[in-house]
This record gives sequence, structure tokens and C-alpha cells, in this order.
Amino acid sequence: MGATLDALQRLQEIEVQLAEFRQRIASKKRSATAQEKRLQALLSEQEEKKTAIRTRQMDADRLELDIKAGDERIAKLRVALNSVKTNKEYSAILTQLNTDKSDNSKIEERLIAILGEIDAAKKELTAFEEKIAAERVKLQDLQRACAEEEARAAGPIAKLQAERDAAAKNVPATALEVFERLAEKNNGEAMAAVVRTHPKREEFACGGCNMSVNVERVNALMTRDDPLCCSICGRILYLDESFNARTR
Ligand SMILES: [Zn+2]
Repeated sequence: MGATLDALQRLQEIEVQLAEFRQRIASKKRSATAQEKRLQALLSEQEEKKTAIRTRQMDADRLELDIKAGDERIAKLRVALNSVKTNKEYSAILTQLNTDKSDNSKIEERLIAILGEIDAAKKELTAFEEKIAAERVKLQDLQRACAEEEARAAGPIAKLQAERDAAAKNVPATALEVFERLAEKNNGEAMAAVVRTHPKREEFACGGCNMSVNVERVNALMTRDDPLCCSICGRILYLDESFNARTR
């Protein structure tokens, strides 16, 4: 292993640390976003509940008007009852009066039932709004935690980025391009150490994906300073110090 692979390894150490910071921030952001969605769902449920109450209130208003109209009709019939001339007329008006009274009391019963429903729905809505308030507090806590994490990480991230830029200067452009693409794909882990899978035989595997790496590749790594990629996962292979110590 030579200068390029050494520089790439340094780059990888930095990338992994950067990825850890980014993952911690991303995880906090995910929690806040999930909570935001939850809150949105609760808010639209709240709107539905309010609409249901309004609709029920309109039903109640209509029934109240019906009752008022019924009362007026009954009052008129009472007046008419006092000025009838015949028994037949009297009994016809009385029958109508009783029918109207009975109809009106049925409407009143329905109104009372609906007003009871509205009352219960309003109580439920109040409890629901308390729940929403609690979820809103939870969201604010998560957002604050996210902002704090970002603020905490800003310094270390800037320092690591400067270190990464410095380390990248020692890497040829093409190798750097491959490295950066892999680092993005694998959370900073663009490289994988070659591991010996048999104590006596010359058998090796990629430490990233555990698939075998042939001896020719390992020999090339020992003698050349070119980045070689695992043919399965594509990570840049390197020989770590324990490997060198064992092989010597
Ligand atoms: Zn691999």
C-alpha cells in the first residue's frame, strides 16, 4: 500500500465520522417529521369533528324552527276553537290541535336528543384538543432537539470537512471521484479492509460484504498503490495493519 491508499484510508476515517454526525441529525429530523405528520393527521381529524358538530347544530336549528312554526299553528287553532259554530267543526279543530301538539312534542324529543349529541361531541372535541396541544409540545421538543443537535455538530462537522479537504488533496482526482461516490452510497464507508478467512490457506474476503477476494487482488494491493474495488460491493479494498502484520 502506498500514498494514495493511505490518503484514502485517512479520508475514510474522516468520512465515517462525518457520516455519524449526519446520521444523528437525520435521525432527529426523521422523528420531528414523523411527529409533524402525526399532528397534521390529528388537526384534520379535529376539523372533521368540528364540521360534524356544525352539521348537527344546523339540524337542531331546523328543528327549533319547526317547533316554533308548530307552536304558532297550535296557537291559531286554539283561537279558532273559541269561535266555532258547530260541534262537528269543534271536534275537527280539536283533532287537528291534538295531532299538531303530538307532532311538535315528537320534534322536541328529537331536538333534545340532538342537543345531547352535540354536547357530548363538544366535550369529546375539548379532550381531543388537549391531546393535540400535548402533541404540539412534543413536536416543539423534537424540533428543538434537532436544532440543538445541528448546532452541536456544526463545529465538529466544519473541522472534519476541513480535514477531509486537506486529505483529499493527496488523492488523485479519479480515485477521489470513485471514493466520494462510494462514501455517499455507504454512509461514509467507501473502503473495506481485506480479511483473511482461513488461518493457513490463502483465502480472503471483503470486510464490507464478506464475499471472497482472490489472491491476485490481494497481491496487487500489496505491491501497487492503485485503488482496487471489491467486485461484489464495489468498495475500495485496503489491507489494514493487522493484515500486514500477519502476512509478514
Ligand atoms: Zn465487498
